Amino acid sequence: MSQQDTEQSVNDEPKSEFIVDTEDCEERELAHRERGTSRPITVVGNPVLHKECQDVTEFDEKLAQLIDDMFASQRTAEGVGLAANQIGVDLKVFVYDCPDDEGVRHVGHVINPVLDDLPADRRVLDDSNEGCLSVPTAYAALARPDYAVVRGQDMHGNPIAVEGTGYFARCLQHETDHLYGYLYIDRLSKRDRKDALRQMAEGTPRYEVVSND
Ligand SMILES: [Zn+2]
Repeated sequence: MSQQDTEQSVNDEPKSEFIVDTEDCEERELAHRERGTSRPITVVGNPVLHKECQDVTEFDEKLAQLIDDMFASQRTAEGVGLAANQIGVDLKVFVYDCPDDEGVRHVGHVINPVLDDLPADRRVLDDSNEGCLSVPTAYAALARPDYAVVRGQDMHGNPIAVEGTGYFARCLQHETDHLYGYLYIDRLSKRDRKDALRQMAEGTPRYEVVSND
């Protein structure tokens, strides 16, 4: 997902069911991207973005390197989330570096993510703007629940659950969608989708993209 202005604040009390992804963010993100190599971003129309990615079954050094490369690519493109197919890799992996509704920074990765179905009382829709590194320079308002829980695995294959609010909840939903072959523009009305594609056609990305030719 692409960046948006947010306020900074501190302190977060994670519930024990969920991983702690708010500590040592600076150091962890830096370590990943220093080990990684930035790669160009795939854009709408590239087949790898429009089909479900494969489940990860090998939790090896190659997977760790992919995660490092994804953090490097995310930083280069100034994203707050990145799915593996956005650098052309057909595997269910996403990374994030994203603030929640209190401005608290979350840094982490999820392998083989699945979103929880929300109980009705947690389904409060938020219709903020959304953007995507694979639809460069375009933004559109899109209603999504302002709370999300995603379950999957970490790079070692351990089961994890990640909880998000606000912009981070949007990010978790957006990145999981990617790995099932959906872009946020696929959730827009025909008219809004067309407008987003027009914005993309008129804009110039600030990072390297993979040509669809
Ligand atoms: Zn995206």
